[in-house]
Amino acid sequence: MPLADIYGQALARERLLNMVVRDRVPQTLLFAGPEGVGKNLAARMFAQALSCRQRIDGDACGSCPACIQIERKLYPDMLIVTAEKQQIKIGQVAEIREFISFAPLVGERRIVIIEEAHKLNNVAANALLKTLEEPFPTVLFILLSHRHSLLLATILSRCMLLPFVSLRKTAVIEILEGLELVPEYGEITATGIADAAAWSGGSMGRALFFLRDENLHWFSDFIGKFSQLPQATLNQALDLAEIAAQFKEREVLFFIMRSFLHDTLLAARGLYGTRADDMRIETSFWSEAVLVFAALPESVLKSIRRRLLDVEKAQGINVNLRIAFDALFSAVATGRDMV
Ligand SMILES: [Zn+2]
Repeated sequence: MPLADIYGQALARERLLNMVVRDRVPQTLLFAGPEGVGKNLAARMFAQALSCRQRIDGDACGSCPACIQIERKLYPDMLIVTAEKQQIKIGQVAEIREFISFAPLVGERRIVIIEEAHKLNNVAANALLKTLEEPFPTVLFILLSHRHSLLLATILSRCMLLPFVSLRKTAVIEILEGLELVPEYGEITATGIADAAAWSGGSMGRALFFLRDENLHWFSDFIGKFSQLPQATLNQALDLAEIAAQFKEREVLFFIMRSFLHDTLLAARGLYGTRADDMRIETSFWSEAVLVFAALPESVLKSIRRRLLDVEKAQGINVNLRIAFDALFSAVATGRDMV
């Protein structure tokens, strides 16, 4: 796919095209922005545009061997690094170093794409930093992150940051409507699409997730129970903590809880719904739950949000999510340790 097809990211698209046309590509790029808005795809499209043998108007042709191999993730001059068990470890940085120690095999440069770069653990991040500090004229690093503030400041300072934005709800709906029927989603209805867009927060990844009925139900049920936590018994709080800790899609879980607490803080200040915000999760069920929870004092809401962020940052390092959620949820239920 050519860069011109990057959807809903006009600024990033123009800047990337410009780099290709002028042949001025920095050594390290950071695609920063929410999950599921096309960063991974854009990184591969950029790799295509740079490696294509028969560019059309300075953009990838989409059909030459390089374009096809990159699309299939089989291009010998491209390495894609992905977190394993929530972490990118030193061994993976060693693989990167080995990969870039060889000259490009077929193209003019070797391209290293690091997905979810904020998941580099400390040792790996420091090793990567050393690599980024050396000049590699025929290497391009593309770091992708939806939590780039968690990256080492020293790594950030080596990157040219390219912001990616949340998609507008209308764009999410348009893309969902254009989807071909996928059996795993069952029948896609207009209501299903509207709900998925409403819960997506401008991320296609999440929109697809919420297109599945069972996911939408799981979260409606979870948020309903979460909003009742201040009135819950300790046992109910621990049950809910167990449910949350066992849930596989952690990124969605933390996004939804973060969004919920954000909205409750606005509600506590009387600002909920007063500002136009296209990304806001907007269903009548959600608003009711927000208003129930916002009866807590603002200082308590802030404290819950801070503790949730701590849990989110620590996950993948060595935190036991069950223990962390047990502590947080029972504190909300009992009102203890919540100043
Ligand atoms: Zn091509």
